Amino acid sequence: MHELIENPVEEPPSTADEPPGTKADVPAYLWNDWRWQMRHAVRTADQLSRYINLTPDERAALDTPGRLRMQITPFVAGLMDRDDPHCPIRRQLVPTVAEFMSCPDTVADSLHEEEQSPVPGLVHRYPDRVLLLATTLCAAYCRHCTRSRLVGKGAGAGVRDWDAALEYIAAHPEIRDVLVSGGDPLTLADRVLERLLSGLRAIPHVEVIRIGTRVPFFLPQRITPELTDLLRRYHPLWINVHFNHPKELAPEVEAALNRLADAGIPLGSQSVLLAGINDCPAVIKALGQRLVRNRVRPYYLYQCDLVEGAAHFRTPVAKGIEIMESLRGHTSGFAIPQYVIDAPNGGGKVPILPNYLISMSDTHVVVRNYEGMISSYAQPTDYPGHDREHCEYCNGRQGVSALLSGQKDAIRPEGWQCSHVKHDA
Ligand SMILES: *Cc1c(COP(=O)(O)O)cnc(C)c1O
Repeated sequence: MHELIENPVEEPPSTADEPPGTKADVPAYLWNDWRWQMRHAVRTADQLSRYINLTPDERAALDTPGRLRMQITPFVAGLMDRDDPHCPIRRQLVPTVAEFMSCPDTVADSLHEEEQSPVPGLVHRYPDRVLLLATTLCAAYCRHCTRSRLVGKGAGAGVRDWDAALEYIAAHPEIRDVLVSGGDPLTLADRVLERLLSGLRAIPHVEVIRIGTRVPFFLPQRITPELTDLLRRYHPLWINVHFNHPKELAPEVEAALNRLADAGIPLGSQSVLLAGINDCPAVIKALGQRLVRNRVRPYYLYQCDLVEGAAHFRTPVAKGIEIMESLRGHTSGFAIPQYVIDAPNGGGKVPILPNYLISMSDTHVVVRNYEGMISSYAQPTDYPGHDREHCEYCNGRQGVSALLSGQKDAIRPEGWQCSHVKHDA
């Protein structure tokens, strides 16, 4: 209960008789206060209509009891185009009727996180790192949310579960990287967040802490000097923000990113490829360039997950390949994200790229560049192979990597034995 009181997002939602204001009619000291922004988040059609002229479709969606509640900070509501329903910020945050249409390919938990969760609030999918869901609350809710099954549903369920998660991490020395996400961990009050970070730092084998957050966009006021002072005490600490469109980088957002970067925090950005929002090579290129100007390195570009309510945001994978083709060579390498499909059934992130390798012989590799130029790379003919004897890092390899080193000679799908190996009766 203690935690819940300290978590400001637990305060009662704003009511219709206290409508949120726009920047023009709210005193700056309130507008710039992140708690004021949270308390006055837009949650009803009436409140929203102070910022934008709702279309009949948006109104109908807001009148339908939702799977994922609407919540938009006044700051972000003010960035939305009043009249254009195609505004990329509006499209990400204001529900439309399309999200209620069922699609046979989508499910609530498309990444099978529940199955890969050893204790509540923790997902352990990869050998050396875990995902910790610190809270179920966000400053605003993205209509394409991958965790819409969990987020925005009242009390911050994650908070109660930290002890079990910390115990699990402490008991697993192979975990060297903890990704704190949610919900959005930066909606937690400083003291609550600090309790989690110090709990993680007390575990000697946790080398890197990462925070996944969209607060620098939704609530840049939250990136206070007190917060950056707190975060810098837990280095090495990395932050991944979620940006989908260059329009999101308003001056206040850029200033918040600057404060984080000045605290020595390496910043990355994860984006989701979304139909009607950023399904354009020029938009993704402009986004990457805008991000690196703000010391944010584009990290992943996700193919939209097969999550319920987000089917209308999906593009064909071909769109992502087309976008990647328009980036490599055309702009700075560090402005290019890795395009991935987070494979359904808990398969994890799989990189997808255009083909640059045209062909090869035992002596030459033929590649093509972004311009279509085809070149031949002469391979060494006298490579002795890696000297494993004298390499202190060489150890057991797993998965397909183990096939390459000869430690394994096959990976068989489940049930393969039954259908392929003849048993004596
Ligand atoms: C994305 C993700 C990670 C982190 O993956 P990286 O490729 O290291 O960024 C870790 N655990 C889970 C469950 C994830 O979904």
